[in-house]
Amino acid sequence: MAAQLLKSFKSILTFNGMIETIRNIGDTFKDKRSGKNTQYEMRDIVLSAYSVFYLQCPSFLAYQQAMENEHKNSNARTLFEIEQIPSDNHIRDLLDEEKPEKLFPVFEAVFDELAETKKLDDFRGGLGDLLFAFDGVEHYNSQNLHCSQCKVTHHKNGKISYSHGMVTSVLVKPGCPHVIDLPPEFIVPQDGHDKQDSENAAAKRWLATHAARYCAYGVTMLGDDLYSRQPVCEAALKAKFHFIFTCKPGSHKTLYEYVEGLRKTNMLYVVEVSRWTGKRREFDKYSYIHQLPLREGDDALQVNWCELVTTDSTGKVLYSNSYVTDHAINDDNVTKIVEDGRARWKTENENNNTLKNHGYNLEHNFGHGQMNLSNLLATLNLLAFLSHTLLAMTSDAYQKIRRHLGARKKFFEHIRTLTHYILFSSWDAMLDFMMEKLKLTPNTT
Ligand SMILES: [Zn+2]
Repeated sequence: MAAQLLKSFKSILTFNGMIETIRNIGDTFKDKRSGKNTQYEMRDIVLSAYSVFYLQCPSFLAYQQAMENEHKNSNARTLFEIEQIPSDNHIRDLLDEEKPEKLFPVFEAVFDELAETKKLDDFRGGLGDLLFAFDGVEHYNSQNLHCSQCKVTHHKNGKISYSHGMVTSVLVKPGCPHVIDLPPEFIVPQDGHDKQDSENAAAKRWLATHAARYCAYGVTMLGDDLYSRQPVCEAALKAKFHFIFTCKPGSHKTLYEYVEGLRKTNMLYVVEVSRWTGKRREFDKYSYIHQLPLREGDDALQVNWCELVTTDSTGKVLYSNSYVTDHAINDDNVTKIVEDGRARWKTENENNNTLKNHGYNLEHNFGHGQMNLSNLLATLNLLAFLSHTLLAMTSDAYQKIRRHLGARKKFFEHIRTLTHYILFSSWDAMLDFMMEKLKLTPNTT
């Protein structure tokens, strides 16, 4: 992707800057049509699909077409810069041709601007690194529609299901409500059927493709117990990333034989902290040790291990988790390593739940395509989620309206309804309208 094609005159952290960047990339999408019968520009096709995910509204384009018929103008045009609204069939046919990787420079442009404007430093974890949390998510599942890239599962009851999954990588920070999406890595049928095999293969591919771009910033990779396996740990180190992965006894028998042996002879290092939660006293017991073999065998990678067990005053266990890492652990940083390791739950809770719960219906709306459509739509959904996150970080009006309306669902209900009935001249004009009607005061500084 040539830099000038991607370059927007506006900040990509704004609503309009994101639209302009996606539009510029849309202009480079393959157009399989020949001749002059090309009523819709490829940019309109890409922006139309994006708008549906951005507003989480399958009927957005139909409403805007009706508005266009009546007023020769619509919110599709004024907000999303769509000149001709395509049908769902056109979107399916034309987007199926292009690979989702075509959109990855948008994620990179967001990261670069966060770095240039020093906002990235607000995301550094307790150890000073950027924390990239990896997690697998299925973004499509059907018993009917399928394509050449679908994973095929034969169930015991004789039914067959078709699915698409990906490993998402997101920048997280302990205690920070926002997560920043990085490019995803799609799971392909050749990655295997087992959840661990397929996620590990995709995560390794992500590292090989993308890590060189990020490693100089100082990155620690986070993941659940599926990632604390030697091939992934080695791939992370090779890519000049650090790692903190959840490490459970059931899947790491050799390592835990050492841990339990050392525990019995009081050879583990221990740090104890007591906290008053406002309601009761809780006790955090951190244990750690260096240089344990991650698995059986002479070629086992040596890793550092730590554990947190939280109890109440009666000794009842309230929380426990354990991690392996390549970071050197000491009495001062063990709390930070555990805190950074725990930050990975954010990717499960926020980013991927949005993909699962909201992406499904919207993707089904367009049908399935033959090649790339499903993964490309999932990428647009990630970009829509990312754009909302950026506005929640940078736009005063957006923050105030979201806070006022409370639940995320309610915010989307409001903007869907407004765009169905009222023509706004711009995204900012819509936010101004909402601020006024909700009697919210903008910041004057
Ligand atoms: Zn498929």
